[in-house]
Amino acid sequence: MPILFYSVRESPYGCFSNFSPHPFDLDGKRWPTSEHYFQAQKFAGTPSEEDVWQARGPMKAAELGRERSRPLRRDWEAVKDDVMRRAVRRKFEAHDDIRAILLSTGDEEIIEDAPRDYYWGCGADGSGKNMLGKILMEVRAELCHDLNPPLATSEAEGLMTPEEYDRLCRSDCFVCRIVAGRPLVPNPHVVYEDDRVIAFLNQFPTQEGYTLVCPKRHVERYEADLSSEEWLYLQGVVQRVSRAVAEATGAMRMYIASLGSPERNAHLHIHVCPCPSGTPFTEQQFAAMELEGGKYLNLSDERMRDIAARIQERTMRSYK
Ligand SMILES: [Zn+2]
Repeated sequence: MPILFYSVRESPYGCFSNFSPHPFDLDGKRWPTSEHYFQAQKFAGTPSEEDVWQARGPMKAAELGRERSRPLRRDWEAVKDDVMRRAVRRKFEAHDDIRAILLSTGDEEIIEDAPRDYYWGCGADGSGKNMLGKILMEVRAELCHDLNPPLATSEAEGLMTPEEYDRLCRSDCFVCRIVAGRPLVPNPHVVYEDDRVIAFLNQFPTQEGYTLVCPKRHVERYEADLSSEEWLYLQGVVQRVSRAVAEATGAMRMYIASLGSPERNAHLHIHVCPCPSGTPFTEQQFAAMELEGGKYLNLSDERMRDIAARIQERTMRSYK
């Protein structure tokens, strides 16, 4: 289903409007809205640019920009799409919350449902060019790529063979060892911890940001070994962590699962796996979580640290 937006007051997509109050820095100035930036660029380098910059509110900026008493820059028609692109991109770079809303639209079509605008919007009858919608979709793809750059081929396969992994998992409890500060695999990246629950990046992930959430106490079966209160508490953390992972990775869907077996990885752990925006249908769901042929993403420690920091920052934020 295409996503329509128009008024800045609509939730959640009103933030796609150029009137939304999301300031950003660009070309040496702080712009209150993308409308201010766009309208001002019609007069770049002239006093009129300053007038629009200082306009009280986006409506006023638009009025000033449309006053034909001001001389329009000569190349305006040639540059206006790029001006809009720069403003929209910078706005969504500057604000985590609206970037998450944009990325959460996955690969849906975005349409500015502006009845009187046949260039930036789709017009009253849908025949308009929808340039603003197209630019939002372009910016979405760029931001998604920034979060999930393609892996170098040398990084695409794990270093440990399935046999080595199997031996490791059977050697001791991987969760209890992290809790005790003696992890089986070095450098676990903890993204959340309280006195009952710990969450850390999956050390053998299929997706960037794939996280495991575990009770610290060694329990194996959620239906038998936890009280309902303990289970609900754990689920509260699962939701908090999932929200943080979704925001940090721009995932279009968050999967959860409880797997493990009595022989291997028996300690209860909840898989929290992001499905990256733009994943084709055949690579979603189980395919997104499964280690096919034992292959996992071998991300550099720096990269793991970076993604862990982004998740942790967000799990902490939701405390407030
Ligand atoms: Zn354990």
